[in-house]
Order: sequence, then C-alpha cells, then structure tokens
Amino acid sequence: MKPQIAELRRLIEGAAGVAIVAHERPDGDAVGSLVALTLCLQNAGKQVSSILADGVPSRFRFLPGSDEVQRTFPTDCDLLIAVDCSEFERTGFKSEDLPRSVDVNIDHHPTNTHFGAVNIVDPQAAATAEILFDLADPLGLDVDSHVATNLLAGLVTDTIGFRTANVTPKVLQVAARLIEYGAPLAEIYERSLNRRSFVAARYWGRGLSRLEQEDGLVWTSLTLEDRQHVGYTGKDDADLINLLSTIDGAEVTVIFIEQPGGTVKVSWRSRAGLNIAPLAAAFGGGGHHQAAGAMVTGDLEQVRERVISATRAIFESDSGKGK
Ligand code: 5GP
Ligand code: MN
Repeated sequence: MKPQIAELRRLIEGAAGVAIVAHERPDGDAVGSLVALTLCLQNAGKQVSSILADGVPSRFRFLPGSDEVQRTFPTDCDLLIAVDCSEFERTGFKSEDLPRSVDVNIDHHPTNTHFGAVNIVDPQAAATAEILFDLADPLGLDVDSHVATNLLAGLVTDTIGFRTANVTPKVLQVAARLIEYGAPLAEIYERSLNRRSFVAARYWGRGLSRLEQEDGLVWTSLTLEDRQHVGYTGKDDADLINLLSTIDGAEVTVIFIEQPGGTVKVSWRSRAGLNIAPLAAAFGGGGHHQAAGAMVTGDLEQVRERVISATRAIFESDSGKGK
C-alpha cells in the first residue's frame, strides 16, 4: 500500500467527525466524488459533513445523498478532506472559513498544487471518482449502490460520456464494476449529461447567435444580460462549451461567461494533441490537457481580446502540442 493511502486509512480510523469539500461551481465529478466519499464514511460509522460553497446544481440533485450537502463548514471536525480541487482556492472558501486546514487532498488535475498535508493526486485518472473507487478497498470502505451511482456520475460527466482521450480500458472496467454494484448508467447519462432545461436552451441560443470562428478556433460569449433576459439563474455556461466543442474543425473552443464584479469565467476545450492546461494556468486557472478554465479579471471585451490572442498563439508555437 502506498504510504499516503496508509496514512489516509490511519487518519480515517482516528477521526470521529469528518468534513469533505469539493470545488466551487461544482461539476458531476465534484458532486459525485463528494457524496460518494461521504456515504462511504457514514457507512463506516463516521459523522460526516459534506460541503459545496455553491450547493448542488439542480441537474445533480437526483444523486442519492446529494440532499445532505451543506454550504458552510461545521465549527469543528477531526479530519478535513478536499476532493476534485486542484488548489485550495478552488474550494471557494477562505482558510478562515474552515474549522482546520486541509488534511487530505484527493484529486486528478495535472495542475494540482499538493495543498494538503497528505496528497493523493493521480493525473492519469479520468475522474476523482475513479481514484475514490480504487481507494475503497485499501481503505476498507464498502461500495453500495448509492456510492456506485455517485462515482459513476463523476466518471460519466468528467469524460463527457466516455468520449475524452483519457478513457482507458481500466476506466471502462471501473464503470462496469460500478454498474454491477447497482449504478444506473442510462439514467445517470440522461440526467447529468443530456437533459437541459428550456431556459438553458434559450441561454445557449444567445451564445450561439454570436458564435465566431477563425481557423481552428471557435468562441462565443455569454453576458449577464443574456442570463437576465432568459431567466437563467446559474453563473455558468449551462455546458454550452461541450456543444461547441463538437463543431467540425474546432480544434480549440473558448467560451467567455461574464460574471458580476468585473470578472469573466473562461472555459477552454481542445481536441486531442493540443494541451490547453498551461494556457489556463497562465491566466490564473488550471485544469486538464483538453478541458481547462480560469476566472479572469477585466471586462468582457478586454478579456476576450487577451485570451483569444493568447489562444491563437498556441497554434503557432509547439507549446500546446503533445501531452
Ligand atoms: P470548466 O471549463 O468546465 O469550468 O472546467 C474545465 C476544467 O478546468 C475542470 O477540470 C476544472 O476543474 C478546471 N477549471 C475551471 N475553472 C478553473 C479555475 O478557475 N481554476 C482552476 N484551477 N481550474 C479551473
Ligand atoms: Mn474531476
């Protein structure tokens, strides 16, 4: 057993109260990994608080156990675990909001800063959920159908339905095991990836109406006014980026989502062979080779200008090529 895993086992055995946090603006891997680990530790007799700064997005509320997620930390706990966070700031909390510093950091982002006292980071893993599945046995934790459902939701969403280049035979073997444990693949796929609200579709329409293309680059923006006009209450792109990245010839896709207070959320997606994680890191963000993001200060116009010109440059240099 790796020393970090033995240490995690020791920490879990010695803890009565555990708090687990995943990242702000949570995706399916953040919610699924958080809730799966929460349920495992509850089944092992621990008192567990699961926390998301932004709460659970409606599309993931079908996940069993997701209704227990809180938005704030308890005043006290013996063990604090972060899942699917590449750096501490991704939790969406300040250190003074936490009852203790992060003991354990479990993640799969190549840009992870190893901010925990114990760090279990595997950039080869397709999702944090895959790492957690592998940890269950050595940690002596049971995977039941609810745990499996949450883990499979993490795998399905982070691989966009097993479509990303990091889907190995092992990822599909893990998925098969999770289905054997009772995870309903078709329902997870439908609810967490395919289904859209009417309002989200209208929001997409605003972004699609101003879509631009130049060589292998495709981009668009979503404004505060768009969200107000259609009544979309999220601060995200409602996953429009994944639709844009299916466009023929779009080697790199970028979306700019205007935020309140003079910042812009930028999301990048690339086809296999172009690594956009360093570009996102250069703008203060991070992510994976083919999916990365950053929160950039400035107005929409300025940020678009800066980001598009920097993104154009990765086609011209070799820095984005290879893995
Ligand atoms: P998305 O573009 O869907 O928000 O995120 C794509 C990937 O980039 C995810 O793996 C996510 O964790 C990462 N990412 C998105 N925004 C940020 C950010 O502001 N900071 C960091 N470090 N990573 C981000
Ligand atoms: Mn993830």
